[in-house]
Amino acid sequence: MRHNLVIANWKLNGSIKLINSFANEWNSLTTANVQVVVCPPAIYLSAAKEQHPQMVLGAQVCSAYQEGAYTGELSAAMLHDVGAHYVLVGHSERRALFGETDEVVASKIAAAQQAKLIPVLCVGETASERSASLTEKVILQQLEKGLLQADLHRLVIAYEPVWAIGTGETASPQQAQEIHALIRGWVAQQDAAVAETIQLLYGGSVKPANAGELFQQKDIDGGLIGGASLDVEQFKAICTAAQER
Ligand code: PEP
Repeated sequence: MRHNLVIANWKLNGSIKLINSFANEWNSLTTANVQVVVCPPAIYLSAAKEQHPQMVLGAQVCSAYQEGAYTGELSAAMLHDVGAHYVLVGHSERRALFGETDEVVASKIAAAQQAKLIPVLCVGETASERSASLTEKVILQQLEKGLLQADLHRLVIAYEPVWAIGTGETASPQQAQEIHALIRGWVAQQDAAVAETIQLLYGGSVKPANAGELFQQKDIDGGLIGGASLDVEQFKAICTAAQER
């Protein structure tokens, strides 16, 4: 049986105050079958780990490099040192705004796994790719190239259609399930046993009102939540929907 997983991606938002409010609600966010991970800006990881050891933390990005003359970068090992257990890799904002190609994504996945972080690979098509019927091709290419050197046993994959991120437009449960089944099928071709256990998350304007139906889908094991993770009550309602799966 796969546990449900709900990950909060705060992006360039949040504060110590928000971390404290999540920490206070931690017991009602997590349950026996729902794991919760909070990815605040990396600057807050140390404080969150020290003050709230119950919280499970992730980073939003890591360097592909381990050390050296790379000003501004944070290595996966450093993030692990200050409390991260997970790291997002290949989020569409990183791909579109910061030039993360599939090759960079592959290096970051390898760096993360080497440092014992669990990478959360984000894949998804743009609106124009969907309307040109390229969705499947794009997703399969992102999986093939991004996971070239990956250990599939220590990995989460998030399907995040770019057109649904931060737009208020969500993939229908059927559209999301179709792509999740495609992703699980791809994993099964690499390793049938891993396909049974790997957690596949949906992300893209998940809100309390639509979370339940999305999480009911056979191949959806939880969500990667942006905007709605900045409000602890909304996030709690999404975690509750995951509990009911
Ligand atoms: C995200 O950024 O990963 C995301 C899913 O954002 P939102 O929930 O705001 O669409």
